[in-house]
Amino acid sequence: MSAPGYPGRGDLLVATRSAGKLRELVPLLALHGWQAITLTEAGIDETEDEAGLEAFATFEENALAKARHFSALAGGVVLADDSGLVVDALGGQPGVHSKRWCGRPDLEGDALDAANNAHLLSALASVGMREALPPARYLCAAAAVWPGGELVECGETAGRILSVARGLGGFGYDPYFESVELGRTFAEVDRAEKAAVSHRGRAFRALLARLSEGRGTSGQAPATNLLSPVDPGRRLG
Ligand code: IMP
Repeated sequence: MSAPGYPGRGDLLVATRSAGKLRELVPLLALHGWQAITLTEAGIDETEDEAGLEAFATFEENALAKARHFSALAGGVVLADDSGLVVDALGGQPGVHSKRWCGRPDLEGDALDAANNAHLLSALASVGMREALPPARYLCAAAAVWPGGELVECGETAGRILSVARGLGGFGYDPYFESVELGRTFAEVDRAEKAAVSHRGRAFRALLARLSEGRGTSGQAPATNLLSPVDPGRRLG
């Protein structure tokens, strides 16, 4: 069954409500010749049960759960990711709990990011690591689900946590995450620079490469008319 407004073949539904992720994913998909359709564009309104989709202990399971949920609603090819920050000095926290680590269900957007970052700094202070530039990683699992098959690919990027924020770009923990490869925080670089080395860029490039090859880990290979990259200049119709 198709959701109202879902444009169908040749497009990928990107199943995230995160504005920060969409700002990264839509151009990344376009760069690789795929037309992204957002949940809003597909007319799929947020429901209360979405909050319970990320209940698993691994990024892979959570990404698949999200993609399966929206695939059941919309059909076609659905992409979803689950991602987060892993700090070894904090026993791997916040991990799959990154989004709401600060424990403030009333906050969203920039206010939620600010509360999570304050929580990160105080957690590091409580183990004597606030000024120590502790190593950290971002991890991302990117999932694709379509009628008859599914795929998951993972990406990772290394950094360290600063005690003072730098930069105004990115989202989430980015102002405090200095990339080892870039020598700057993910909030100080532009979108293309972040995508080149980021956990999300790596996971989705691997996923798109496999989708383009038409291979699946289970079920049948996706039909070519569903999964051929579209002309990047093509408009939604
Ligand atoms: P989820 O994948 O929607 O459960 O949320 C992942 C959470 O991890 C985000 O809300 C951020 O707090 C954090 N996160 C994941 N990727 C990034 C990133 O690229 N930059 C900053 N924070 C991120």
